[in-house]
Amino acid sequence: ATSVAGVENTPSERSFIALKPDAIQRGLIADIVGRLERKGFKLVAMKLLTPSKELVEKHYEDLKDRPFYPGLVAYMAQGPVLAMVWQGPGVVKTVRQMLGATNPAQAPSGSIRSDFFLVTGRNGIHASDAHASAEAEIALWFKPSELVDWKRDADQWILSAN
Ligand code: GDP
Ligand code: MG
Repeated sequence: ATSVAGVENTPSERSFIALKPDAIQRGLIADIVGRLERKGFKLVAMKLLTPSKELVEKHYEDLKDRPFYPGLVAYMAQGPVLAMVWQGPGVVKTVRQMLGATNPAQAPSGSIRSDFFLVTGRNGIHASDAHASAEAEIALWFKPSELVDWKRDADQWILSAN
């Protein structure tokens, strides 16, 4: 995994965001993706896949000693998962705030997990929690060629030079 120094809070900062199988099964793609899009972040990669058990195990390897880990891996590996990369200043921290707490019951009202989900074990969405994990997760889920380099004309109205 690559870690790019000094890009936090720059327009090129990126985060790995994924809708989990419960969000897909419940038809929440447009509602949730729409929030990220309307906020002003730029979509640079998106794919629907059923991840292998190995991919999910690697993604959540920090949690491998937790009692819920086998159930978490089974939940995610059922698929499908909508894997995405979003870009913009402060994207890692801001998207975590837009999600709310891991436990939807503790997420502030108006946050994604509060508005659409009820319990920790079916909380619908993942977002990277730090710049380094974002870059590692992007490298785990995407090939470099799957990241789309595009110029968004609206950036002149979304980003300012100062
Ligand atoms: P996140 O970064 O907010 O997603 O939370 P964590 O990194 O702590 O945990 C990753 C994911 O594991 C969560 O989003 C949940 O899907 C799941 N998880 C975490 N804690 C629990 C738990 O106590 N019970 C269950 N069933 N799942 C959990
Ligand atoms: Mg986490």
